[in-house]
Amino acid sequence: RSNAEKFEFQAEVSRLMDIIINSLYSNKDIFLRELISNASDALDKIRFLSLTDKEILGEGDNTKLEIQIKLDKEKKILSIRDRGIGMTKEDLIKNLGTIAKSGTSAFVEKMQTSGDLNLIGQFGVGFYSVYLVADYVEVISKHNDDKQHVWESKADGAFAISEDTWNEPLGRGTEIRLHLREEAGEYLEEYKLKELVKKYSEFINFPIYIWASKEVDVEAPADEDESGDEEESSSESSSSEEETDEDAEKGEDEEKKPKTKKVKETTYEWELLNDVKAIWLRNPKEVTDEEYNKFYHSLAKDLSDEKPLAWSHFTAEGDVEFKAVLFVPPKAPQDLYESYYNSNKSNLKLYVRRVFISEEFDELLPKYLSFLKGLVDSDTLPLNVSREMLQQHSSLKTIKKKLIRKALDMIRRIADEDPDETADKDKKDEKSVDDDEKRGQYTKFWNEFGKSIKLGIIEDATNRNRLAKLLRFESTNSDGKLTTLDQYISRMKPGQKDIFYITGTSKEQLEKSPFLERLKKKNYEVIFFTDPVDEYLMQYLMDYEDKKFQNVSKEGLKLGKDAKDKELKESFKDLTKWWKNALSSDNVDDVKISNRLDNTPCVVVTSKYGWSANMERIMQSQTL
Ligand code: ADP
Ligand code: MG
Repeated sequence: RSNAEKFEFQAEVSRLMDIIINSLYSNKDIFLRELISNASDALDKIRFLSLTDKEILGEGDNTKLEIQIKLDKEKKILSIRDRGIGMTKEDLIKNLGTIAKSGTSAFVEKMQTSGDLNLIGQFGVGFYSVYLVADYVEVISKHNDDKQHVWESKADGAFAISEDTWNEPLGRGTEIRLHLREEAGEYLEEYKLKELVKKYSEFINFPIYIWASKEVDVEAPADEDESGDEEESSSESSSSEEETDEDAEKGEDEEKKPKTKKVKETTYEWELLNDVKAIWLRNPKEVTDEEYNKFYHSLAKDLSDEKPLAWSHFTAEGDVEFKAVLFVPPKAPQDLYESYYNSNKSNLKLYVRRVFISEEFDELLPKYLSFLKGLVDSDTLPLNVSREMLQQHSSLKTIKKKLIRKALDMIRRIADEDPDETADKDKKDEKSVDDDEKRGQYTKFWNEFGKSIKLGIIEDATNRNRLAKLLRFESTNSDGKLTTLDQYISRMKPGQKDIFYITGTSKEQLEKSPFLERLKKKNYEVIFFTDPVDEYLMQYLMDYEDKKFQNVSKEGLKLGKDAKDKELKESFKDLTKWWKNALSSDNVDDVKISNRLDNTPCVVVTSKYGWSANMERIMQSQTL
């Protein structure tokens, strides 16, 4: 085209497109989910803007916030159109030519080696999945601030943009035209598209229509009867059906010509494919597990078939009203803790009175719960204010507080319903049908998200005790299994006041520690803390249920009074004094007689407020 301007894709995009084009990935269907999700995002954006500026929607068809799918079997074109925000020329260049998201290279790398494109939507490159099924793609787009433009590419490293002077004006929004590859013919079948929309886009909150064909019987003038045209339009035509029936019965009377005959004709009409009643507005009792599962997968853009570990769907009433659905995903994203201190991204979507407001509303959940997915829809928050003002709204504090409570209850329920967790409680007779499905779920949760609970204990003083109940660890008496603080307390020896623990790099290393000799011999249980974060954790977790925590490698370990203690101290006074002088105060604070050892003659103990040896090690490794 004469007015086309050529551009080259960013190198990463080109590489990604090569991977997609040559992919043997069998699940090519995902492109439709990505396109519909983009259309829905674009509609969310224009609806959000229209809250403060009614004019922005325009009039007539432009006000219809919907998605339309159309097939052209002859030309082998599948098109998806929305009346969303649209893209200016600049947007087209930026959004469909470069990838802004950090970590893209790493992702491209990973796709290349694993061949798994399931995560494409989560990495902000979903659009390019169109090249799984198409070899040529046109994106026609009209934004309020610009003229209509066409972006086109054959995925050969370059794309072109032209001002659109030949297509029908869109009014506003975007139409994506996929020129399907030979082998992707199935996407020209209506039933296939209907099936896919139902499967992947059930929870899109805008109506999705398909231009559906319908075979209808129509009365057509009989071929030989030239004058039939006039007859048909007259009022008599209503009785013509009966006449033809009679004719048929007569059968043999072929000579008699019917005035009209029945023919099949294909007509088209927009057929609605989804039910736009939002799942969170429904009564939880009426939503099936299967629906929650599917809702999770669509919300989290997760195409695996792993079920979420738990969910909570509730309505909060009172001063601040809102509905929410929270999910614990089956798996933690790989970079959950890598980016923990740099990002503040919560995964809750915020809606105000059914209108989508934002995906990144950090004020809804604390950082340590950012692994949860879900949404909040509030009737209390104001609709027509800027995002900045919304972020400062006083109701958010109340919402956050309730969400944390509900989230922690939900996590606790994973444990309560897990038969492995309750094995030693007397609940065996209450065995439910779901037992096997729930078995081991808490351990799974703990392995994926345990660190988040620990970070919660560090960061959230208000909920520290609630979070401490969710802690799991191994100990000298836990027999290789995970145990809880409550279980530890129930096993404490008579007269034992403190909860004993030891920190280090591994259970194996700790089991050999001289600090445990005496405790083991006297059968005191000691908790093993082997995660680097545990050192920080124990600076915040000072006590639990009126019991203090005692690091057994630190000063202050008391194993019950021994009458001989004082005597021993007296008789070794000269030795301890000599020793302390020999080591000088630069090296040790004090030298004491201790009853904590059994075979080992002496140990170096950390002072009560000092860093444990393990903490010293962690700090050293961090400064390197
Ligand atoms: P993501 O949707 O995760 O941002 P995509 O690769 O799916 O990544 O889309 C890239 C960008 O292209 C989007 O962020 C959006 O800005 C733009 N875009 C894609 N489809 C549309 C559309 N139908 N309407 C408006 N903008 C769109
Ligand atoms: Mg997308």
